[in-house]
Order: sequence, then structure tokens, then C-alpha cells
Amino acid sequence: MVKKRKNRGRHKGRGKKGRSGYISCSNCGARIPRDKAIRRVVWRSYVDPQLSQELKKQGAIILKQPLVKYYCVSCAIHFGVVRIGMSAERKAREG
Ligand SMILES: [Zn+2]
Repeated sequence: MVKKRKNRGRHKGRGKKGRSGYISCSNCGARIPRDKAIRRVVWRSYVDPQLSQELKKQGAIILKQPLVKYYCVSCAIHFGVVRIGMSAERKAREG
């Protein structure tokens, strides 16, 4: 079989994993398999960034909350989360 991608565009394990659940894209709401989505964790604090800088100077500890975002492939490419590799690189990787 001719393969376009080694992992078929997903992060599914070989063998026993089977089906994976679905999640919706954080941006467009598309329903995509969890292992196909591009996951990014953004650490956000509830404090205003300018204020937090001043507080840090005074030695305060500011708590940050992880904000997990899942993007579908088209959104991830559109917003520059991931990039399409050079054609030469792609060929080298697939071997
Ligand atoms: Zn999307």
C-alpha cells in the first residue's frame, strides 16, 4: 500500500489501541479524533500581564492555569500552530 504519511496523520499507537474518542476543535468546533488533533497547552494567569510583571518584581508568586486547546489540522495550519514541512524533509522522514 502506498502511504502518504507514516502515521496516517494520527498519533495512534500501533497494534492494540483501537478506536479513540472524539473532541471538538477549540477554534471551529469540528469533531475530530483525539489522536489526530493538535494539542497545545497555554499557561494563563488570571492576573493582567502588566500587573503580574510588577508583582513578580516584588517577589510575589502568581498562579497560572493550564489552558488545553485542541486544534483540527486545518485550523492548526491556518493559525501557524504547525507548519507544512519542506518537501525534501518529508521525503527524507518517510524513508
Ligand atoms: Zn478547527
